[in-house]
Amino acid sequence: MLPRTPQGITQWLWVLLVALLPLILGLPLLAWQAERSLQAQSAREVTLAVQQVTTILDNAANAARALAPLAGVDCADATLPLREQVTRNPYVRSTSLVAANRLYCSSLYGPFDEGFSLENYTDGRLRLFAADAVTPGRPLLVYREAAAGGSALATVDGQHLANALAAAEADAHMLLQVGPAWMTAQGLVDSAPLPRFASGQAQAASGRYPFSVYAGYDQPAPWHRLLGGYPTLALLAALGVAAGVVCYRQQRRAGSPRQELGRALDAGEFVPFFQTVVASTDGACTGAEVLMRWRHPRDGLVRPDLFIPYAEACGLIVPMTRSLMRQAAAALAPVAHSLEDGFHVGINVAAAHCRDPSLVADCEAFLAMFPPGRIQLVLELTERELVTPAPETLELFGRLRAMGVRIALDDFGTGHSSLSYLHQFRVDYLKIDQSFVAMIGSQALSRHILDSIIELCAKLELGVVAEGVETEEQQRYLAGHGVGYLQGYLFARPMPADVFLSHVRACRLHRVPVPLVSAAELG
Ligand code: C2E
Ligand code: CA
Ligand code: CA
Repeated sequence: MLPRTPQGITQWLWVLLVALLPLILGLPLLAWQAERSLQAQSAREVTLAVQQVTTILDNAANAARALAPLAGVDCADATLPLREQVTRNPYVRSTSLVAANRLYCSSLYGPFDEGFSLENYTDGRLRLFAADAVTPGRPLLVYREAAAGGSALATVDGQHLANALAAAEADAHMLLQVGPAWMTAQGLVDSAPLPRFASGQAQAASGRYPFSVYAGYDQPAPWHRLLGGYPTLALLAALGVAAGVVCYRQQRRAGSPRQELGRALDAGEFVPFFQTVVASTDGACTGAEVLMRWRHPRDGLVRPDLFIPYAEACGLIVPMTRSLMRQAAAALAPVAHSLEDGFHVGINVAAAHCRDPSLVADCEAFLAMFPPGRIQLVLELTERELVTPAPETLELFGRLRAMGVRIALDDFGTGHSSLSYLHQFRVDYLKIDQSFVAMIGSQALSRHILDSIIELCAKLELGVVAEGVETEEQQRYLAGHGVGYLQGYLFARPMPADVFLSHVRACRLHRVPVPLVSAAELG
């Protein structure tokens, strides 16, 4: 149900805008809220991690403090207390003693000798480094407690630290920083500048030890959180749909005749009805006239004379006729094989359409739906509203004629067409208005008018169709006076496509005037 008019497009754009408005307005708000909630989340997590690492370091500090008085003592006497502290403090992996800038005794190896540089220790207390020979690939954090004779060291296994950092949300990153070095939750140690996170960045430093914890997310906050925020998005989308529906309803309700016609056109409410035209001699169905009906959702079927004048006045008649032609062709094309060759299909064309070059393309599209020669397309121009024979109009009619399109002058006798007019437009058929047909059987004077019209038609050597034939008397009279084609309730009322198709089949089979179609059949 795509809009076919600029007005329809505008209406749909409004509906779309209203439907998307909650999302458009809501997204930046959501993004801002998402960033804030990410930051709050990161802040909570770094605080938690700082607490955990502090507890671990308290453990190491306990061990180091207990061992500090032993700094400088002979290693043989210190090895046992060093090991005792490892056993007592669960997070401590090893302990060692330093004197005169040498690490001389360790819980792991006993007497030992390794250089010691205080510069490696942040605030003289903490050192983070990648690994040692005992546990390659595992970072270590060393706590140092200074004493008169040197210092005591307690080493924490990086796995405990990694566990503390890994407690954060799955997609959050946490880093532990000690001086120039930092480690990740995966246990990687680096001393490059700290990486910056795209969103939700937070940091907390320990009050007790010289370290900090950083957290953040790689993805920009909005998408990260918004994607996780489906319920909110769904709510916004639902709000949008509801607003769109309200807007659509409102637009359908209120509106000028033009708006209402445009809406109906977009909704496909203008549909073709078909009324057969029969040969006066044997009642064979030689063609049909396509008559527009408006299937109004509230008022039911609306007669064309109630809305066609509005459609002409507001310029919608051209797209409406185009839609009618498409629908008529789509209905007839599948049964084209069962129609007689040269089956006439009459389309009523408003004067405005005759000045519109798109008429050629409309007719081309119509004819393209049928095998060549199967359909005779006839444009019916009413005599009530004569088309001005401007050069461009005549040129347009020349092109239509070259395509095989024929012209009928509708409501003949009610207007003022002249001989030169009929000639200029190269009219092929005259349709005698039903008001003259209704004179049959009435006073002689009125009938003379009809006789003169029929005589004129005969002289002009044009095909003649009599409209509004309702009685057998009228049928006999017209057939007897040489009127070739008849159209009227006596043969068939205008009917929807499906009823019309079965009617044409029956008409073809019997080749006699088919009885009136009952109201029930019209659906
Ligand atoms: P029209 O072109 O003269 O169409 C014939 C009208 O006479 C139709 O009325 C048809 O239903 C009616 N009619 C047919 N047989 C009888 C009969 O035996 N007795 C009586 N009393 N009436 C009969 P409808 O369908 O209401 O159309 C009215 C007019 O609206 C048409 O008159 C035509 O001028 C206009 N119209 C209909 N469809 C279109 C269209 O697609 N485009 C344009 N521009 N005008 C249309
Ligand atoms: Ca007509
Ligand atoms: Ca007519």
